[in-house]
This record gives sequence, C-alpha cells and structure tokens, in this order.
Amino acid sequence: MSGPIEKIAELIVDSLRIVVFVGAGLSTESGIPDFRSPGGVWDKYDPQEFYFQRFLESETSREKYWQMATDMYESMKDAEPNRAHLAIAELEQLGKLDCLITQNIDGLHFKAGNSPDKVLELHGTAMHVTCLNCHKRYDRDAIQIRIAGGDKAPRCDACKGLLKPATISFGQSMPAEETQAAYEHSAACDLFIVIGSSLVVQPAAQMPVIAKQNGAKLVIINRDETPCDPIADYVVNAQASPTMATVIERVRRALANISRV
Ligand code: NAD
Repeated sequence: MSGPIEKIAELIVDSLRIVVFVGAGLSTESGIPDFRSPGGVWDKYDPQEFYFQRFLESETSREKYWQMATDMYESMKDAEPNRAHLAIAELEQLGKLDCLITQNIDGLHFKAGNSPDKVLELHGTAMHVTCLNCHKRYDRDAIQIRIAGGDKAPRCDACKGLLKPATISFGQSMPAEETQAAYEHSAACDLFIVIGSSLVVQPAAQMPVIAKQNGAKLVIINRDETPCDPIADYVVNAQASPTMATVIERVRRALANISRV
C-alpha cells in the first residue's frame, strides 16, 4: 500500500491546475526563522509593537521596526533556496504549476528559479523599500547602508516621506491585485498544496478552505498541526525540504514513465 508521499505525487501527476501556497516554514531550512516557532521572530520581539498605525505615528516605533526588519533582513539577504523551494521551481518547469501564492518576503522563490509571473507575493517583499508618500522604490541594500551608518528610521530623498520595506505589516492593507488573484487561483485549482504555514493569519487561513469548497484536493505539508488539517485530503507533519525532495523525485519518475509509454 502506498503512503501519503506517494499519494501526493500521484495527485500532482494527475492534476491540471496546481496552486502551491507557502509560509515562513518553507524557509526555516534555509536559515530564516519563522514567526511563531520556538526561537522565531515573535520570541524576540512583541508583535504588538509592529502594527502599521504605530509605524505611522511614532519615531520610536519606526526605529524599533527598522531594528526588527534589519535583523530579519540579515538572515535573508544571503540565504539560499532549499530543496523545497527547488521542488516548487521544478513543478513550474514541468508545466505543473498554475500559481505560487507566497506569504514569504525573502525572495527565495526567484533564486530557486520560479518566474515572477507565476508568483503572487501576498505580503510583499523585503528586497525593496518604498516611500509611503511618493512611492519611490529603493534597493534594500542601499537603505541598509544608511541604517548601518546610524540613520535609525530613514526618509525619502525625494519627498522626506517615511521609508518602509515593501512588506505588509499588521494593520496595513493587503495588495489588492495580488489578493484578488490569489482568491481566484485558489477557487479555480484542482490541487492546493500548503507548505510551511501555520494557516492562522488572514487571508492565509481562508485560501485552502476556498480551494476545498470549489472541489480541489487539499494537501498540507507542515511540521505542526494547522486549523485546516481536518478538511485536508493528506496531511504530512514533517520538514518541508526532505519531504518535497521525495515528492518531486516521485513526480519526476512517474512523468518519465508516462512519456515512455
Ligand atoms: P508562521 O511563523 O505562522 O508558521 C510557520 C509554520 O511553519 C509553523 O506552523 C511551523 O510548524 C512550520 N514550519 C517551520 N519550519 C518548518 C519546516 N522546516 N518544514 C515544515 N514546516 C515548518 O508563518 P506563516 O504561516 O508564514 O505566517 C506568518 C507570517 O510570517 C507571514 O506574514 C510572512 O510574511 C512572515 N514571515 C516570512 C518570513 C520569510 O519570508 N521567510 C520569515 C518570517 C516571517
């Protein structure tokens, strides 16, 4: 009898519109801490400090925000994609990926080889900084040089507006186009695969439900339990990187067998 990994590989081979939905757990094996695991970002910082409204209202909050964001960026900037990122990129190469919805801000999908037109960055990206006033965009490294030089809460060269990494904070509006597209792809897919997300923040918590309600199969690969486990067809509580390496190896093999007959 075949186990869940074999079943997931079979589902991938048989499906026509696959949506992969990922969270911070995908990148922990690349050395980037998630938010909620022990040793994660919220063990070190209080999430209440980082509401968008506070960033707008107080210079002290902006300085704290940039401190936390600099810490996170340090773990991201030289990180390399792991085998789970590479497996998702291979799904695209195999013509199996309809869309990758990511909550991650670390840019590792692009280093792994996914093309920008397949990736919806729901929570933005830490690789750029934008002015909240005139929307001028800056390269992140250029701003980090200013931070390292003692500028604790940098402002725009052009208009003196507040600069912020191009990520979505608590209380900040989600990017409308990406969010709408994510809902549409979730509703239209025939297989929805969650990897490395606690599925507790919105709209993450809703996407697998929408997919399932519209007839898709649901697979969850996450180290810990999630609130969507009861509606999933297959749940694998394991590390993303070795699990996805095995899944993609089975998919590769099955597709090669099909093309031989
Ligand atoms: P989360 O921290 O809430 O949950 C991460 C989940 O991943 C947990 O349930 C944990 O069990 C699981 N996990 C951790 N390591 C794993 C591994 N190696 N294999 C399998 N599962 C693993 O993260 P979330 O659900 O993505 O949501 C919170 C927010 O975190 C998002 O808004 C995202 O923007 C932000 N975030 C992103 C990064 C990043 O870009 N790498 C890093 C930290 C936080």
